[in-house]
Amino acid sequence: MDGKVDLDKLERKEKERAERKKREEEEDKRRKEEKLRAGRDGKGIAKDYLSFCKNCYKEYMILMPKCTQCGKETVTREQRMKELEAKLGEYKNSKATKKMRRVKWQNWLKTQAIRYSKMSTSYLKWDYFESDSSDEEKNPDPIVPDDPNVKMLERDIEERAKRRRENRKQSEELKARGNEYMKKGKPKAAYKKYTQAIELSRDYFILYTNRALAALKIEKWNDVVEDCTKVLDYCDCFDNGYTKNKDLCYKALVRRAAALQGMRKFDLAKKDVDDALLLFPGVTATCNRYR
Ligand SMILES: [Zn+2]
Repeated sequence: MDGKVDLDKLERKEKERAERKKREEEEDKRRKEEKLRAGRDGKGIAKDYLSFCKNCYKEYMILMPKCTQCGKETVTREQRMKELEAKLGEYKNSKATKKMRRVKWQNWLKTQAIRYSKMSTSYLKWDYFESDSSDEEKNPDPIVPDDPNVKMLERDIEERAKRRRENRKQSEELKARGNEYMKKGKPKAAYKKYTQAIELSRDYFILYTNRALAALKIEKWNDVVEDCTKVLDYCDCFDNGYTKNKDLCYKALVRRAAALQGMRKFDLAKKDVDDALLLFPGVTATCNRYR
């Protein structure tokens, strides 16, 4: 080396440095993009994302039509907000409706106080008619869209709806098996199936009249009266009488009349038959034996 600058060497180094810098920048850019594409964990309630995956609870800061985690379609922030508000509104409404029905039932009971003063039937409690009343206590009163519990709640609402659907389906299967037993002349077995079905779907009222028929065959008079009374009271309170659900109430009245006759309470039996005839004035003949 004699102090002369090796221009070639310098140039080469300069070029290498530039290339390295470019590579680093590209790598950096790639990493940033990757990060954007991966999204971040979130409940879809932040204000700065553009796409949201409801399945993975991922928020994307860039428009991402499909989730990079699960491949499902995402929603925009605007869609997410609308959905959330609708869902929460629905939830509040159903809570309010439940509350109103509970109050209506309690008021109805008050008007029936004289009739029921000597009875102590478990079903007089409103909870009896609700398939998921126990869930209610578990949920604190929420909820605004930016509630931090929103994810939990959302899942909870969905799970409850799913469970209700599954219970109803199982309940229908049990009912069908009960009906089969009835056809085969096995009311005791049918009674058991209907009872299992009711445990799953307490507001599925046809189960009570079905079970009442089974109970009638094995002469469990009190059970018949209780099941039929449940149906009739419910209709009286919420449908303002028996005419809205004629078939169901007709069955309940006639079956209760038969049981009351078995208990030798002829006056009460006659009253039920009269009420039944009011529903279907043309069918006098089938009821005559209860008069
Ligand atoms: Zn996803």
